[in-house]
Amino acid sequence: MTELKISKIRKSYGNLEVIKGVDLDVNKGEFVVFVGPSGCGKSTLLRMIAGLEDITEGELWIGDDLCNDIHPGDRGIAMVFQSYALYPHMTVGDNIGFNLKISGYSKEVREQKIQSAAQVLQIEHLLKRKPSQLSGGQRQRVAIGRAIVREPQVFLFDEPLSNLDAALRVEMRMELAELHRKLGATIIYVTHDQVEAMTLADKIVVLDAGIVQQVGKPIDLYQRPSNLFVAGFIGSPK
Ligand code: ADP
Ligand code: MG
Repeated sequence: MTELKISKIRKSYGNLEVIKGVDLDVNKGEFVVFVGPSGCGKSTLLRMIAGLEDITEGELWIGDDLCNDIHPGDRGIAMVFQSYALYPHMTVGDNIGFNLKISGYSKEVREQKIQSAAQVLQIEHLLKRKPSQLSGGQRQRVAIGRAIVREPQVFLFDEPLSNLDAALRVEMRMELAELHRKLGATIIYVTHDQVEAMTLADKIVVLDAGIVQQVGKPIDLYQRPSNLFVAGFIGSPK
């Protein structure tokens, strides 16, 4: 079942076209990874899906809704940023529950949702701390927790592990795969790291210069790259 559909999407900044006609179907529960070199348009595409950038041309469908002009908060989507973007003066618990407060949930319901997200992410013991008292990996879990409590249909991740050291990146990668299994959610995940893409994805979308080069299962891209760019990018060791 299709959860999200992108049709002939284009994005220009002034005269500069950075997304040049992208089509994509994302199925419910699928882990889709956008991969490609720096500057190829991965974040721009993700931000258009989130509603943080206007779509210059084309259509974005989420379920049965044409979402081009739907407010970011009403798209059933939650985004996790590379920078974590936590509020430094708030505790971990308040960071996780902040959007729920804005949405008007009672304190009781908020506490309940914060607890269950913290349990999934194994950060229950950190709820009273401030972000400055956490490691990079713990901060990233809090940022993910803030997305989980909103119970979105679709999670968007923009290079969530790129600020972590190599060992922690591997650990968090496994945790993200586990989280995907637990939540059964649809995930769209951006990385420039082909190893990350190969290990996490049900479906990989290889982008270069604002154009989709190939879409497929990791194994298909590896064994049957459709062009030299894909072959070089997926095949090259990190
Ligand atoms: P990626 O995430 O793959 O590294 P981006 O989506 O951030 O790439 O950027 C794609 C292209 O769009 C780049 O050439 C970048 O310089 C350009 N770009 C991104 N945001 C803006 C903006 N707000 N104004 C002008 N150009 C932008
Ligand atoms: Mg980016």
